[in-house]
Amino acid sequence: MLTDLHIAVIGGDARQLEVIRKLIELDAKISLIGFDQLDHGFAGATKYQINELSFEDIDAIILPVAGTNHEGQVDTIFSNEKVYLKEEVIKQTPDHCIIYSGISNDYLNQLVKTTNRKLVRLFERDDIAIYNSIPTVEGTIMLVIQHTDFTIHGSKIAVLGLGRVGMSVARSFAALGAKVKVGARKSEHLARISEMGLQPFHLSNLMKEVADVDICINTIPYPILSADVLSKVPSHSLIIDLASKPGGTDFRYAEKRGIKAILAPGLPGIVAPKTAGQIVANVLAQLLSEDLAERKEKK
Ligand code: NAP
Repeated sequence: MLTDLHIAVIGGDARQLEVIRKLIELDAKISLIGFDQLDHGFAGATKYQINELSFEDIDAIILPVAGTNHEGQVDTIFSNEKVYLKEEVIKQTPDHCIIYSGISNDYLNQLVKTTNRKLVRLFERDDIAIYNSIPTVEGTIMLVIQHTDFTIHGSKIAVLGLGRVGMSVARSFAALGAKVKVGARKSEHLARISEMGLQPFHLSNLMKEVADVDICINTIPYPILSADVLSKVPSHSLIIDLASKPGGTDFRYAEKRGIKAILAPGLPGIVAPKTAGQIVANVLAQLLSEDLAERKEKK
């Protein structure tokens, strides 16, 4: 239980509603900022404007997945008010206050540095990334079905990268009957691909390996599908680029060659916002209770 914790949830989309629901269930005291237009109220949570709330007893601040923009503005889907996370606000919090965000940027990094507060980047955690790979795979399957006129079963698919997303993508498409090969650069990854019963190839052979694919799914956040490589991809192929923006594909060249290439960021929040919210909520609940237990032990 999070009975003694006072948590400020600042901004966010439908995913944050799952976080709020979970924290209320665990008996935390919740102050909401950027939710004034949310129709249904949460019993046990109070809505504030950012300048109305006293941050002196706030134990944790929860930001949306994107954190803030480069000016410190927090995205607030449920409010028309502009909400900024400023140094003055963080300085009011007790020293132990932890800020939780999906990802970070220079603004947020600088803010926690100058105020000497801990920032947890949730999306860097393996547990969140692995759980999130599940809705990511489902969204990828949806896109492939929407953008092809042939079945996944029997199609030749190259997956680039064997990280947390690549592994789930490769395994799921293979389970659907596709002929999956996976490109990686580490020998342990190539060994794992073999162990999974899939066809491994080293990324240095990418130009040769893409010559016969129907679908290429990229998970590598690096310009891996360059014009040189794309010049070898069959023109009927579909490219789904899952890597974070700007992706790893030369989209200009793909279009020039008539290859359909789709950059598909943020699939969990699009295809399964409730699950995506629950993934964050469950991990956050665990982290907050560990922090609470640690502070109680120190007292
Ligand atoms: P990850 O576990 O870090 O995996 C990244 C993979 O890319 C690893 O196999 C890594 O191999 C490889 N890689 C990185 N830089 C490379 C380079 N320069 N050359 C060759 N290989 C390279 O990351 P992840 O969690 O799987 O996420 C992959 C990407 O998908 C990220 O950009 C992430 O933000 C994004 N993502 C997108 C969605 C979506 O909805 N579209 C959802 C979740 C994540 P090494 O180990 O050899 O470095």
